[in-house]
Amino acid sequence: MRKLSVRNRILLLFAGAMLIAMALTFLLVYIVSASVMKKTLSDYLMSAVDTNADKLVYLTKEQAAGEMERDTNDLFVDYADGVLQIDDDFLEILNDVESALYTEEGELLYGDNSLSREMEGEAFTGSRLYEKRIQGERYVVYDRKFTGKKLDGLWIRGIVPLTRQEDQLAQITKSVLAFLPVMLLLVVAGSVLAAKGILQPIRQMEQTAAGIVGGEDLGRRIAVGKNKDELHSLAMSFNAMFDRLEQSFARERQFTSDASHELRTPLAVILTQAEYVAAKERSREEYKDAFTVVERQAKRMKRLVGDMLDLSRIAQGERRYPMETVSLSAIVSTVCEDMERIAYNDITIEANVAENVRLKGNADLLERLLVNLLDNAYKYGKTGGRTQVFLEEKDNVVSLKVRDDGTGISEGAKANIFDRFYREEEARSGNGYGLGLSLAAEIVQLHGGEISVESEKGAGSCFTITFPRERGTLTDSRF
Ligand code: ADP
Repeated sequence: MRKLSVRNRILLLFAGAMLIAMALTFLLVYIVSASVMKKTLSDYLMSAVDTNADKLVYLTKEQAAGEMERDTNDLFVDYADGVLQIDDDFLEILNDVESALYTEEGELLYGDNSLSREMEGEAFTGSRLYEKRIQGERYVVYDRKFTGKKLDGLWIRGIVPLTRQEDQLAQITKSVLAFLPVMLLLVVAGSVLAAKGILQPIRQMEQTAAGIVGGEDLGRRIAVGKNKDELHSLAMSFNAMFDRLEQSFARERQFTSDASHELRTPLAVILTQAEYVAAKERSREEYKDAFTVVERQAKRMKRLVGDMLDLSRIAQGERRYPMETVSLSAIVSTVCEDMERIAYNDITIEANVAENVRLKGNADLLERLLVNLLDNAYKYGKTGGRTQVFLEEKDNVVSLKVRDDGTGISEGAKANIFDRFYREEEARSGNGYGLGLSLAAEIVQLHGGEISVESEKGAGSCFTITFPRERGTLTDSRF
Protein backbone atom coordinates (compact mmCIF):
# COMPACT_ATOMS: atom_id res chain seq x y z
CA MET A 1 0.00 0.00 0.00
CA ARG A 2 2.86 2.34 0.87
CA LYS A 3 4.38 2.01 -2.57
CA LEU A 4 1.15 3.01 -4.28
CA SER A 5 0.63 6.57 -5.39
CA VAL A 6 -2.04 8.62 -3.58
CA ARG A 7 -4.15 8.48 -6.74
CA ASN A 8 -4.05 4.69 -6.83
CA ARG A 9 -4.72 4.48 -3.12
CA ILE A 10 -7.84 6.63 -3.46
CA LEU A 11 -8.84 4.55 -6.46
CA LEU A 12 -8.42 1.29 -4.54
CA LEU A 13 -10.19 2.55 -1.44
CA PHE A 14 -13.08 3.99 -3.42
CA ALA A 15 -13.48 0.91 -5.62
CA GLY A 16 -13.17 -1.41 -2.61
CA ALA A 17 -15.79 0.54 -0.67
CA MET A 18 -18.13 0.52 -3.66
CA LEU A 19 -17.72 -3.22 -4.22
CA ILE A 20 -18.31 -4.01 -0.56
CA ALA A 21 -21.41 -1.78 -0.57
CA MET A 22 -22.66 -3.53 -3.72
CA ALA A 23 -22.01 -7.01 -2.33
CA LEU A 24 -23.78 -6.14 0.93
CA THR A 25 -26.76 -4.68 -0.96
CA PHE A 26 -27.02 -7.81 -3.07
CA LEU A 27 -26.79 -10.02 0.01
CA LEU A 28 -29.51 -8.01 1.72
CA VAL A 29 -31.77 -8.16 -1.36
CA TYR A 30 -31.15 -11.89 -1.62
CA ILE A 31 -31.93 -12.61 2.04
CA VAL A 32 -35.02 -10.38 2.07
CA SER A 33 -36.28 -11.84 -1.22
CA ALA A 34 -35.71 -15.40 0.00
CA SER A 35 -37.59 -14.81 3.24
CA VAL A 36 -40.45 -12.92 1.53
CA MET A 37 -40.75 -15.67 -1.08
CA LYS A 38 -40.78 -18.37 1.56
CA LYS A 39 -43.43 -16.53 3.56
CA THR A 40 -45.59 -16.06 0.47
CA LEU A 41 -45.19 -19.71 -0.45
CA SER A 42 -46.13 -20.85 3.08
CA ASP A 43 -49.18 -18.55 3.16
CA TYR A 44 -50.19 -19.86 -0.20
CA LEU A 45 -49.76 -23.47 0.89
CA MET A 46 -51.74 -22.95 4.08
CA SER A 47 -54.60 -21.22 2.31
CA ALA A 48 -54.74 -24.03 -0.32
CA VAL A 49 -54.84 -26.67 2.44
CA ASP A 50 -57.48 -24.71 4.40
CA THR A 51 -59.65 -24.38 1.28
CA ASN A 52 -59.43 -28.11 0.62
CA ALA A 53 -60.22 -28.91 4.26
CA ASP A 54 -63.58 -27.19 3.84
CA LYS A 55 -64.45 -29.57 1.02
CA LEU A 56 -64.89 -32.55 3.35
CA VAL A 57 -67.98 -33.90 5.12
CA TYR A 58 -68.50 -37.02 7.28
CA LEU A 59 -71.65 -39.02 6.52
CA THR A 60 -73.20 -42.13 8.03
CA LYS A 61 -73.56 -45.03 5.64
CA GLU A 62 -77.28 -44.27 5.16
CA GLN A 63 -76.66 -40.59 4.53
CA ALA A 64 -73.92 -41.54 2.11
CA ALA A 65 -76.21 -43.79 0.12
CA GLY A 66 -78.62 -40.92 -0.46
CA GLU A 67 -75.83 -38.47 -1.30
CA MET A 68 -74.22 -40.88 -3.74
CA GLU A 69 -77.39 -40.92 -5.73
CA ARG A 70 -77.83 -37.19 -5.69
CA ASP A 71 -74.23 -36.08 -6.30
CA THR A 72 -72.50 -38.30 -8.73
CA ASN A 73 -69.44 -35.99 -9.17
CA ASP A 74 -68.34 -36.11 -5.54
CA LEU A 75 -66.08 -38.76 -4.16
CA PHE A 76 -67.03 -41.11 -1.33
CA VAL A 77 -64.37 -42.79 0.76
CA ASP A 78 -65.05 -45.20 3.62
CA TYR A 79 -63.84 -43.78 6.91
CA ALA A 80 -64.40 -45.19 10.41
CA ASP A 81 -68.06 -46.22 10.69
CA GLY A 82 -69.19 -43.93 7.95
CA VAL A 83 -68.19 -42.35 4.68
CA LEU A 84 -66.26 -39.25 3.79
CA GLN A 85 -67.83 -37.14 1.11
CA ILE A 86 -65.14 -35.24 -0.74
CA ASP A 87 -66.35 -32.37 -2.86
CA ASP A 88 -65.35 -32.61 -6.53
CA ASP A 89 -63.72 -29.16 -5.99
CA PHE A 90 -61.10 -30.79 -3.74
CA LEU A 91 -58.05 -30.22 -5.82
CA GLU A 92 -55.31 -32.70 -5.40
CA ILE A 93 -52.94 -30.36 -7.16
CA LEU A 94 -53.48 -26.63 -7.04
CA ASN A 95 -50.70 -24.47 -8.41
CA ASP A 96 -47.97 -26.89 -7.33
CA VAL A 97 -49.63 -27.55 -3.94
CA GLU A 98 -50.43 -31.21 -3.65
CA SER A 99 -52.97 -32.11 -0.97
CA ALA A 100 -53.78 -35.53 0.42
CA LEU A 101 -55.87 -37.00 3.23
CA TYR A 102 -54.38 -39.32 5.84
CA THR A 103 -55.49 -41.19 8.91
CA GLU A 104 -53.87 -40.44 12.26
CA GLU A 105 -51.60 -43.44 11.66
CA GLY A 106 -50.37 -42.00 8.41
CA GLU A 107 -52.38 -44.19 6.04
CA LEU A 108 -53.17 -42.44 2.77
CA LEU A 109 -56.92 -42.09 2.27
CA TYR A 110 -57.18 -39.79 -0.69
CA GLY A 111 -54.84 -37.92 -3.00
CA ASP A 112 -52.61 -40.67 -4.23
CA ASN A 113 -49.49 -39.27 -5.88
CA SER A 114 -45.78 -39.88 -5.70
CA LEU A 115 -45.21 -37.20 -3.07
CA SER A 116 -48.09 -38.18 -0.81
CA ARG A 117 -46.92 -41.74 -0.92
CA GLU A 118 -43.34 -40.67 -0.07
CA MET A 119 -44.73 -38.82 2.93
CA GLU A 120 -46.93 -41.74 4.10
CA GLY A 121 -44.49 -42.74 6.82
CA GLU A 122 -44.18 -39.20 8.21
CA ALA A 123 -45.96 -39.10 11.58
CA PHE A 124 -48.45 -36.39 12.43
CA THR A 125 -47.37 -34.48 15.49
CA GLY A 126 -49.88 -31.62 15.41
CA SER A 127 -50.83 -28.92 12.94
CA ARG A 128 -47.52 -27.54 11.74
CA LEU A 129 -45.53 -26.10 8.88
CA TYR A 130 -42.11 -27.56 8.13
CA GLU A 131 -39.49 -28.18 5.49
CA LYS A 132 -38.72 -31.62 4.10
CA ARG A 133 -36.18 -32.92 1.65
CA ILE A 134 -37.55 -35.60 -0.63
CA GLN A 135 -35.32 -37.23 -3.23
CA GLY A 136 -32.90 -34.34 -3.02
CA GLU A 137 -35.57 -31.67 -3.53
CA ARG A 138 -36.71 -29.25 -0.83
CA TYR A 139 -40.42 -28.96 -0.01
CA VAL A 140 -42.57 -27.05 2.42
CA VAL A 141 -45.15 -29.25 4.12
CA TYR A 142 -48.26 -28.22 6.02
CA ASP A 143 -50.08 -30.76 8.20
CA ARG A 144 -53.52 -29.85 9.46
CA LYS A 145 -55.63 -31.90 11.82
CA PHE A 146 -59.43 -32.09 11.42
CA THR A 147 -61.54 -31.60 14.52
CA GLY A 148 -65.20 -32.17 15.30
CA LYS A 149 -67.98 -33.35 12.99
CA LYS A 150 -66.66 -36.91 13.39
CA LEU A 151 -63.54 -35.95 11.48
CA ASP A 152 -61.19 -36.39 14.49
CA GLY A 153 -58.20 -38.51 13.62
CA LEU A 154 -58.19 -37.30 10.01
CA TRP A 155 -55.33 -35.24 8.61
CA ILE A 156 -54.82 -33.18 5.51
CA ARG A 157 -51.27 -32.66 4.31
CA GLY A 158 -50.29 -30.02 1.75
CA ILE A 159 -46.90 -30.07 0.12
CA VAL A 160 -45.29 -27.58 -2.20
CA PRO A 161 -41.83 -27.60 -3.78
CA LEU A 162 -39.39 -24.80 -2.92
CA THR A 163 -37.90 -25.09 -6.38
CA ARG A 164 -39.92 -22.20 -7.75
CA GLN A 165 -38.55 -19.88 -5.09
CA GLU A 166 -35.05 -21.24 -5.62
CA ASP A 167 -35.42 -20.74 -9.36
CA GLN A 168 -36.45 -17.14 -8.82
CA LEU A 169 -33.51 -16.46 -6.52
CA ALA A 170 -31.17 -18.10 -8.99
CA GLN A 171 -32.66 -15.83 -11.64
CA ILE A 172 -31.97 -12.75 -9.53
CA THR A 173 -28.39 -13.89 -8.92
CA LYS A 174 -27.94 -14.54 -12.62
CA SER A 175 -29.18 -11.10 -13.57
CA VAL A 176 -26.88 -9.51 -11.01
CA LEU A 177 -23.93 -11.51 -12.28
CA ALA A 178 -24.78 -10.54 -15.84
CA PHE A 179 -24.66 -6.92 -14.76
CA LEU A 180 -21.42 -7.37 -12.82
CA PRO A 181 -19.00 -6.39 -15.62
CA VAL A 182 -21.03 -3.25 -16.31
CA MET A 183 -21.13 -2.40 -12.62
CA LEU A 184 -17.39 -3.06 -12.26
CA LEU A 185 -16.75 -0.78 -15.18
CA LEU A 186 -18.91 1.90 -13.58
CA VAL A 187 -17.13 1.48 -10.25
CA VAL A 188 -13.70 1.79 -11.85
CA ALA A 189 -14.78 4.79 -13.92
CA GLY A 190 -16.34 6.36 -10.79
CA SER A 191 -13.17 5.72 -8.80
CA VAL A 192 -10.96 7.24 -11.48
CA LEU A 193 -13.17 10.34 -11.61
CA ALA A 194 -13.29 10.58 -7.81
CA ALA A 195 -9.51 10.27 -7.52
CA LYS A 196 -9.07 12.87 -10.22
CA GLY A 197 -11.58 15.23 -8.60
CA ILE A 198 -9.97 14.92 -5.18
CA LEU A 199 -6.43 15.31 -6.45
CA GLN A 200 -7.07 18.11 -8.93
CA PRO A 201 -6.83 21.00 -6.41
CA ILE A 202 -3.86 19.32 -4.73
CA ARG A 203 -2.13 19.01 -8.08
CA GLN A 204 -2.75 22.69 -8.73
CA MET A 205 -1.25 23.52 -5.35
CA GLU A 206 1.75 21.35 -6.06
CA GLN A 207 2.34 23.03 -9.42
CA THR A 208 2.11 26.52 -7.94
CA ALA A 209 4.32 25.53 -5.00
CA ALA A 210 6.86 23.97 -7.37
CA GLY A 211 6.84 27.16 -9.45
CA ILE A 212 7.42 29.30 -6.38
CA VAL A 213 10.09 27.07 -4.90
CA GLY A 214 11.74 26.83 -8.31
CA GLY A 215 12.30 30.55 -7.89
CA GLU A 216 10.19 31.56 -10.85
CA ASP A 217 8.01 33.99 -8.99
CA LEU A 218 7.95 34.39 -5.23
CA GLY A 219 4.90 36.63 -5.54
CA ARG A 220 2.69 33.82 -6.86
CA ARG A 221 0.06 32.36 -4.57
CA ILE A 222 -2.11 29.26 -4.58
CA ALA A 223 -5.68 29.95 -5.66
CA VAL A 224 -7.83 29.60 -2.54
CA GLY A 225 -11.14 27.94 -3.34
CA LYS A 226 -14.48 29.26 -2.14
CA ASN A 227 -15.25 26.11 -0.14
CA LYS A 228 -13.98 26.48 3.38
CA ASP A 229 -12.79 22.87 3.51
CA GLU A 230 -9.52 21.22 4.52
CA LEU A 231 -7.91 22.12 1.18
CA HIS A 232 -8.90 25.72 1.74
CA SER A 233 -7.02 25.86 5.04
CA LEU A 234 -4.10 23.97 3.49
CA ALA A 235 -3.90 26.54 0.69
CA MET A 236 -4.15 29.36 3.25
CA SER A 237 -1.31 27.85 5.31
CA PHE A 238 0.84 27.48 2.20
CA ASN A 239 0.15 31.06 1.17
CA ALA A 240 0.97 32.31 4.67
CA MET A 241 4.21 30.36 4.46
CA PHE A 242 5.01 31.86 1.05
CA ASP A 243 4.28 35.32 2.46
CA ARG A 244 6.79 34.74 5.21
CA LEU A 245 9.29 33.26 2.76
CA GLU A 246 8.90 36.21 0.41
CA GLN A 247 9.34 38.68 3.25
CA SER A 248 12.34 36.89 4.61
CA PHE A 249 13.94 36.62 1.15
CA ALA A 250 13.31 40.31 0.61
CA ARG A 251 14.83 41.08 4.00
CA GLU A 252 17.84 38.93 3.31
CA ARG A 253 18.34 40.59 -0.07
CA GLN A 254 18.02 44.01 1.51
CA PHE A 255 20.38 43.00 4.29
CA THR A 256 23.05 41.75 1.89
CA SER A 257 22.80 44.85 -0.24
CA ASP A 258 22.90 47.16 2.80
CA ALA A 259 25.81 45.25 4.31
CA SER A 260 27.81 45.41 1.05
CA HIS A 261 27.02 49.07 0.84
CA GLU A 262 28.27 49.68 4.39
CA LEU A 263 31.45 47.69 3.76
CA ARG A 264 32.23 49.59 0.58
CA THR A 265 33.28 52.83 2.28
CA PRO A 266 35.80 51.40 4.78
CA LEU A 267 37.17 49.11 2.05
CA ALA A 268 37.57 52.04 -0.33
CA VAL A 269 39.36 54.04 2.40
CA ILE A 270 41.72 51.12 3.18
CA LEU A 271 42.44 50.66 -0.53
CA THR A 272 43.19 54.36 -0.99
CA GLN A 273 45.56 54.29 1.98
CA ALA A 274 47.29 51.20 0.63
CA GLU A 275 47.73 52.83 -2.79
CA TYR A 276 48.95 55.98 -1.10
CA VAL A 277 51.73 54.24 0.83
CA ALA A 278 52.61 51.96 -2.07
CA ALA A 279 52.94 54.78 -4.60
CA LYS A 280 56.30 55.98 -3.28
CA GLU A 281 58.54 56.16 -0.27
CA ARG A 282 56.71 57.98 2.56
CA SER A 283 57.89 59.58 5.76
CA ARG A 284 57.44 57.76 9.08
CA GLU A 285 54.67 60.22 10.02
CA GLU A 286 52.83 59.60 6.77
CA TYR A 287 53.01 55.80 7.26
CA LYS A 288 51.74 56.17 10.79
CA ASP A 289 48.81 58.32 9.71
CA ALA A 290 47.91 55.89 6.91
CA PHE A 291 47.97 52.88 9.21
CA THR A 292 45.91 54.69 11.84
CA VAL A 293 43.24 55.27 9.20
CA VAL A 294 43.47 51.64 8.06
CA GLU A 295 43.18 50.42 11.65
CA ARG A 296 40.12 52.61 12.30
CA GLN A 297 38.37 51.41 9.17
CA ALA A 298 39.27 47.78 9.82
CA LYS A 299 37.82 48.08 13.33
CA ARG A 300 34.59 49.46 11.87
CA MET A 301 34.46 46.56 9.47
CA LYS A 302 35.13 44.12 12.27
CA ARG A 303 32.26 45.59 14.29
CA LEU A 304 29.92 45.43 11.32
CA VAL A 305 30.85 41.85 10.50
CA GLY A 306 30.46 40.95 14.20
CA ASP A 307 26.98 42.50 14.34
CA MET A 308 25.96 40.72 11.13
CA LEU A 309 27.17 37.45 12.54
CA ASP A 310 25.23 38.05 15.76
CA LEU A 311 22.07 38.78 13.78
CA SER A 312 22.37 35.56 11.84
CA ARG A 313 23.08 33.60 15.04
CA ILE A 314 20.06 35.06 16.79
CA ALA A 315 17.98 33.97 13.81
CA GLN A 316 18.97 30.40 14.70
CA GLY A 317 17.07 30.95 17.96
CA GLU A 318 17.19 28.53 20.85
CA ARG A 319 19.40 26.07 18.99
CA ARG A 320 22.22 28.58 19.23
CA TYR A 321 21.23 30.25 22.45
CA PRO A 322 19.74 27.80 24.93
CA MET A 323 17.13 29.25 27.25
CA GLU A 324 17.18 28.70 30.97
CA THR A 325 15.91 30.42 34.05
CA VAL A 326 18.09 33.47 34.59
CA SER A 327 18.05 36.30 37.07
CA LEU A 328 17.34 39.41 35.08
CA SER A 329 17.94 41.43 38.27
CA ALA A 330 21.50 40.17 38.42
CA ILE A 331 22.14 40.73 34.71
CA VAL A 332 20.79 44.30 34.73
CA SER A 333 22.72 45.25 37.90
CA THR A 334 26.01 43.90 36.54
CA VAL A 335 25.68 45.50 33.10
CA CYS A 336 24.73 48.87 34.65
CA GLU A 337 27.67 48.70 37.00
CA ASP A 338 30.12 47.88 34.19
CA MET A 339 28.75 50.49 31.80
CA GLU A 340 28.69 53.17 34.49
CA ARG A 341 32.45 52.91 34.75
CA ILE A 342 32.83 54.11 31.16
CA ALA A 343 31.08 57.37 32.13
CA TYR A 344 31.19 58.51 28.51
CA ASN A 345 30.63 62.27 28.23
CA ASP A 346 30.14 62.36 31.98
CA ILE A 347 26.77 60.69 31.61
CA THR A 348 25.64 58.87 34.73
CA ILE A 349 23.77 55.57 34.76
CA GLU A 350 21.30 55.06 37.55
CA ALA A 351 19.98 51.53 38.14
CA ASN A 352 16.61 50.91 39.81
CA VAL A 353 16.44 47.16 39.88
CA ALA A 354 13.74 45.12 41.61
CA GLU A 355 15.13 42.06 43.32
CA ASN A 356 14.56 38.51 42.27
CA VAL A 357 13.16 39.14 38.83
CA ARG A 358 13.65 35.89 37.01
CA LEU A 359 12.98 34.97 33.44
CA LYS A 360 13.38 32.11 31.03
CA GLY A 361 15.99 33.39 28.66
CA ASN A 362 19.57 33.49 27.51
CA ALA A 363 21.88 35.48 29.77
CA ASP A 364 24.37 36.45 26.99
CA LEU A 365 21.63 37.82 24.79
CA LEU A 366 19.85 39.68 27.58
CA GLU A 367 23.19 41.25 28.52
CA ARG A 368 23.78 42.22 24.91
CA LEU A 369 20.32 43.79 24.73
CA LEU A 370 20.96 46.11 27.66
CA VAL A 371 24.50 46.93 26.52
CA ASN A 372 23.14 48.05 23.12
CA LEU A 373 20.52 50.30 24.74
CA LEU A 374 23.03 51.83 27.17
CA ASP A 375 25.51 52.24 24.32
CA ASN A 376 22.93 54.34 22.49
CA ALA A 377 22.10 56.27 25.66
CA TYR A 378 25.79 57.27 25.77
CA LYS A 379 26.07 57.88 22.02
CA TYR A 380 22.95 60.01 21.76
CA GLY A 381 23.06 61.49 25.28
CA LYS A 382 24.10 65.02 26.22
CA THR A 383 27.30 65.75 28.11
CA GLY A 384 26.74 65.41 31.84
CA GLY A 385 23.37 63.79 31.19
CA ARG A 386 21.56 61.12 33.14
CA THR A 387 20.39 57.69 32.11
CA GLN A 388 17.97 55.72 34.25
CA VAL A 389 17.38 51.99 34.11
CA PHE A 390 14.29 50.46 35.69
CA LEU A 391 13.57 46.78 36.14
CA GLU A 392 10.29 45.75 37.69
CA GLU A 393 7.74 43.01 37.69
CA LYS A 394 4.00 43.49 37.94
CA ASP A 395 1.13 41.12 37.23
CA ASN A 396 3.50 38.54 35.78
CA VAL A 397 4.91 41.04 33.32
CA VAL A 398 8.58 41.91 33.55
CA SER A 399 9.42 45.39 32.30
CA LEU A 400 12.79 46.88 31.59
CA LYS A 401 13.10 50.61 30.83
CA VAL A 402 16.09 52.64 29.70
CA ARG A 403 15.47 56.38 29.83
CA ASP A 404 17.92 59.04 28.71
CA ASP A 405 17.83 62.81 28.43
CA GLY A 406 19.73 62.94 25.17
CA THR A 407 18.98 64.06 21.63
CA GLY A 408 15.67 62.20 21.33
CA ILE A 409 14.28 60.67 18.15
CA SER A 410 12.24 62.52 15.56
CA GLU A 411 8.63 61.45 15.09
CA GLY A 412 9.29 60.21 11.54
CA ALA A 413 12.25 58.06 12.59
CA LYS A 414 10.55 56.27 15.49
CA ALA A 415 8.86 53.71 13.27
CA ASN A 416 12.16 52.81 11.58
CA ILE A 417 14.81 52.75 14.26
CA PHE A 418 14.37 49.00 14.81
CA ASP A 419 15.03 48.28 11.12
CA ARG A 420 18.41 46.96 10.11
CA PHE A 421 20.87 49.64 8.95
CA TYR A 422 18.48 52.45 9.79
CA ARG A 423 20.13 55.57 11.18
CA GLU A 424 18.77 59.04 11.66
CA GLU A 425 20.35 61.63 9.38
CA GLU A 426 22.51 63.20 12.08
CA ALA A 427 23.67 59.76 13.29
CA ARG A 428 25.10 58.83 9.88
CA SER A 429 28.39 60.55 10.58
CA GLY A 430 28.82 58.47 13.76
CA ASN A 431 30.42 55.06 13.87
CA GLY A 432 27.19 53.10 14.21
CA TYR A 433 25.69 50.97 11.44
CA GLY A 434 22.09 51.01 12.51
CA LEU A 435 22.23 47.38 13.63
CA GLY A 436 22.21 47.90 17.42
CA LEU A 437 18.46 48.35 17.84
CA SER A 438 17.53 45.70 15.30
CA LEU A 439 19.70 43.26 17.25
CA ALA A 440 17.94 44.39 20.43
CA ALA A 441 14.54 43.88 18.80
CA GLU A 442 15.45 40.38 17.62
CA ILE A 443 16.67 39.43 21.09
CA VAL A 444 13.41 40.69 22.61
CA GLN A 445 11.39 38.79 20.01
CA LEU A 446 13.30 35.59 20.70
CA HIS A 447 12.29 35.94 24.36
CA GLY A 448 8.64 36.44 23.41
CA GLY A 449 8.70 40.10 24.52
CA GLU A 450 7.98 43.48 22.98
CA ILE A 451 10.07 46.60 22.58
CA SER A 452 8.80 50.14 22.10
CA VAL A 453 10.09 53.67 22.33
CA GLU A 454 8.76 56.97 23.54
CA SER A 455 10.81 59.96 22.60
CA GLU A 456 10.78 63.67 22.08
CA LYS A 457 13.32 65.43 19.95
CA GLY A 458 15.69 67.32 22.21
CA ALA A 459 14.22 65.94 25.44
CA GLY A 460 15.37 62.33 25.46
CA SER A 461 14.10 58.82 24.80
CA CYS A 462 12.69 55.97 26.82
CA PHE A 463 12.92 52.39 25.56
CA THR A 464 10.51 49.93 27.19
CA ILE A 465 10.78 46.18 26.92
CA THR A 466 8.16 43.85 28.35
CA PHE A 467 8.45 40.12 28.80
CA PRO A 468 5.40 38.06 29.65
CA ARG A 469 6.32 35.68 32.46
CA GLU A 470 4.55 32.38 32.43
CA ARG A 471 2.91 31.83 35.79
CA GLY A 472 4.44 29.12 37.91
CA THR A 473 7.28 28.26 35.54
CA LEU A 474 9.98 29.96 37.53
CA THR A 475 10.10 28.49 40.96
CA ASP A 476 13.85 28.07 40.81
CA SER A 477 15.32 29.66 43.93
CA ARG A 478 18.92 29.70 42.84
CA PHE A 479 18.97 33.48 42.64
P1 ADP B 1 23.39 52.95 15.57
O1 ADP B 1 24.53 52.03 15.38
O2 ADP B 1 23.27 53.98 14.49
O3 ADP B 1 23.31 53.52 16.94
P2 ADP B 1 20.96 51.65 16.30
O4 ADP B 1 20.19 50.58 15.62
O5 ADP B 1 21.42 51.40 17.68
O6 ADP B 1 22.13 52.06 15.33
O7 ADP B 1 20.02 52.90 16.30
C1 ADP B 1 19.32 53.34 15.15
C2 ADP B 1 19.09 54.81 15.16
O8 ADP B 1 18.17 55.14 16.20
C3 ADP B 1 20.31 55.59 15.51
O9 ADP B 1 21.02 55.91 14.34
C4 ADP B 1 19.74 56.83 16.16
O10 ADP B 1 19.39 57.77 15.17
C5 ADP B 1 18.46 56.36 16.81
N1 ADP B 1 18.66 56.10 18.26
C6 ADP B 1 18.85 54.92 18.86
N2 ADP B 1 18.92 55.06 20.20
C7 ADP B 1 18.76 56.38 20.46
C8 ADP B 1 18.71 57.15 21.64
N3 ADP B 1 18.87 56.61 22.85
N4 ADP B 1 18.52 58.47 21.50
C9 ADP B 1 18.36 59.03 20.32
N5 ADP B 1 18.38 58.36 19.14
C10 ADP B 1 18.57 57.04 19.21
